[in-house]
Amino acid sequence: MATVIVVGGGAAGLVAAWRAACLGHRVTLLEANGRLGVKLRISGGGKCNLTHAGPPKELLGAFAKDQARFLRPSLHAFDNEDLQDLLRREGLHTYVRDNGRVFPLDRPGSAGAVVEAFEALVRRAGVEVRLGARVAGLLGRSPHLEGLLVDGERLLAEHIILATGGASYPETGTRGEVLGWLKGLGVPVQPWFPALAPIPLQQARPAREGVALRGGSLRLSVGPEGRRLAAFEGDILFTRAGITGPAALELSQAVERARREGAAWLSYASTLESPEALDATIQAEQRDNPRLLASTWTQRYLPERLVEPLLTSAGLPKDLMLKDLTKPYRRALVALVTALPLGEPQPVPLARGEVAAGGVDLGAVDPHRMLLRGWENLRVCGELLNLDGPVGGYNLQAAFSTGYAAGSLI
Ligand SMILES: Cc1cc2nc3c(=O)[nH]c(=O)nc-3n(C[C@H](O)[C@H](O)[C@H](O)COP(=O)(O)OP(=O)(O)OC[C@H]3O[C@@H](n4cnc5c(N)ncnc54)[C@H](O)[C@@H]3O)c2cc1C
Repeated sequence: MATVIVVGGGAAGLVAAWRAACLGHRVTLLEANGRLGVKLRISGGGKCNLTHAGPPKELLGAFAKDQARFLRPSLHAFDNEDLQDLLRREGLHTYVRDNGRVFPLDRPGSAGAVVEAFEALVRRAGVEVRLGARVAGLLGRSPHLEGLLVDGERLLAEHIILATGGASYPETGTRGEVLGWLKGLGVPVQPWFPALAPIPLQQARPAREGVALRGGSLRLSVGPEGRRLAAFEGDILFTRAGITGPAALELSQAVERARREGAAWLSYASTLESPEALDATIQAEQRDNPRLLASTWTQRYLPERLVEPLLTSAGLPKDLMLKDLTKPYRRALVALVTALPLGEPQPVPLARGEVAAGGVDLGAVDPHRMLLRGWENLRVCGELLNLDGPVGGYNLQAAFSTGYAAGSLI
């Protein structure tokens, strides 16, 4: 039996502590907040999309190749079914939405129920939980970490597992400082980087706040006429400062990288048809339905609230019928639908990301037990690793699986 300290009472730390205690070790869980699982409680808008359905191979396919390779052993050791079985034994049932996302079933807003289930598990396994315990430093150096500094006290242990999360939503306790300490100890790391975050725009349009564009594709290019860098199919939602919604979140990391490289420009295609195909469609409509208002036709693709101001800014008369649509007007309409300009982004905020990209280099960690290479007793897991999956329950599953691997110790 060994002494183990787990730092961080989020998804990864809870599972790591529970697993190590179940294996008979003496485990202390340190959490900076006054309660456990603060970020878990706000995940999925309080509903907690705790994992994604499907075989491990499919889940891994959602991650970048190097991340998938790293995750494979820990996901196989503790996958989405293992997670749901564990929770079911605690009385927490789950259901799968059509899009494969898995949520707790029993209570509305049940992210809290997930935390309560894990809290019960760790306490029953005999883990000593210390809340309000913010670790202020690491004691020791490669290959051995002796312990940690907490409130001026030196806490020593034979094994230390760092599960301190990322650097977004710092108000939930994740300030990202542990990554700097590890770097100072010679551990290879990638700096924190924004991901799955809303995108502020240079030209924010508060009048559009609350309007959604659906069923199309958000596109990132080097300029209005420039090369396409990336695209994501999905909805966007205008906010006061810019855009959010699935496509904005998924593209945000690429947008910030392009912006830092000096060229990022966004547009939204409200149809997946090409401009040429849409031009043919509108010409057919001109023949079949000449008295249809251009604004009514446009509303098939764009929300009503946007159509009038957009047509006005494109110089189209309000009551223009399709029969009177000249070629330049037709081109203007097609352009609004196939490439609505959103313009240049502003810096994507790290703090508002559902995850933070960056973290401990995956190459520096043994993917079976999360032991840092060159160290004999220091493990890292969860978002502190350089792992970031898409929206859909993948990030929590990665935290649970890597936490389980870290807690397995040997
Ligand atoms: C708004 C929001 C919604 C999300 N929704 C989903 C979702 O529905 N599905 C999904 O899969 N993912 C979602 N995520 C991502 C997911 O929550 C994270 O990937 C996951 O919580 C990471 O788990 P973790 O255990 O690594 O870190 P965390 O859960 O962040 O836990 C880390 C813990 O470490 C503690 N800590 C940090 N530093 C110290 C220190 N120095 N000393 C002591 N304690 C410390 C923190 O207080 C924190 O409690 C969401 C994230 C956000 C912000």
